[in-house]
Amino acid sequence: MGSASSDVEPAEWCQRALAASEGFEFSSWQLACRASRKLDDEERLELARGLRAAVAELLQQAWPGVARGHDEADICLLLDMEKNCVELDSRPLCLYSRYRKRSREMSQTAFFCRRCRGRGRGCSECGGSGLLVAESVERNVLAPLLAQAGTERARFHGMGREDVDVQMLGRGRPFIVELQGPRKRSLDLVAARAALPATIDIDPWRVIGRKAIAQLKAATPDKTYLLQVETEAQPASEALDQLQPQLQELVLQQRNPSRVPRRADIVRTRTVRSGRVRTHNPLTIEVRAQSGTYIKELVSGDAGRTTPSLASLLGVPCRCVALDVLEIHADDPEEVRVSSAAEPPAPQP
Ligand SMILES: [Zn+2]
Repeated sequence: MGSASSDVEPAEWCQRALAASEGFEFSSWQLACRASRKLDDEERLELARGLRAAVAELLQQAWPGVARGHDEADICLLLDMEKNCVELDSRPLCLYSRYRKRSREMSQTAFFCRRCRGRGRGCSECGGSGLLVAESVERNVLAPLLAQAGTERARFHGMGREDVDVQMLGRGRPFIVELQGPRKRSLDLVAARAALPATIDIDPWRVIGRKAIAQLKAATPDKTYLLQVETEAQPASEALDQLQPQLQELVLQQRNPSRVPRRADIVRTRTVRSGRVRTHNPLTIEVRAQSGTYIKELVSGDAGRTTPSLASLLGVPCRCVALDVLEIHADDPEEVRVSSAAEPPAPQP
């Protein structure tokens, strides 16, 4: 038998497409068609083209005022003539913001428990949570968005990450939430932001195109940190005075940190742009450094694996006891700058 599905009328395909899109909110759609592989190329192409045109016309009548798009339409309907069914692909909804995290007990993304790997109901090691660190920016930010969008799938893309015990301050860290297979797209983003715990706050959301994810991932911005440093003995005051000029464009050789033992042992060169002592007691030092600098190792020297270090410059063993990211020196990605705000402006008092 040839292709049974070619016997199905365009009106029937249209009904199937309408049924498949039931319950999905979209403001643009596109249509694709896959003909049976049993036909030769020429035939397939013509059959698919003909059916697509006929069904598109019917759908345009069914959805007046909804744009028929091409790339980046909200949904794509595939008329699969081989499987004799319509498949709906709800394209991801991407939201951009910057987060600030005032906690030293929160990871950026959800780390699953090493023992149970987050499966089932967790285990005794994770207290049933399935997670290594109970709280994460990802989980807090995603929960209200997933509920509103009617999906359980999403990805969290950060412009780098900070350790669990590091606060993220200043203008915050750029990130994108990619909601996959959303049923709803007009979300109450103000409410989603209001639902966050006091330890996290984020900029108003912006809806952006998927291109921004690559732009975000490619960025290598400088970062400014505030380090709280514990020294084994009081450093000489001349050494402290000399620190600011010495940190100016200081080139570091950094072998892999001993706390990350598994990676191949290589030496990386990174530059500290500038630095200064902020307070003497406790000793706090502000440092601006190139992307990828191991900051805790810059303080301690990591047993000679990072040279020079604050320990070698001050002439006393040093340890970083608290770390904050004060600034990520990155503008919003190009894609974000051209997008329009997703949230209504705040009401005027
Ligand atoms: Zn577990």
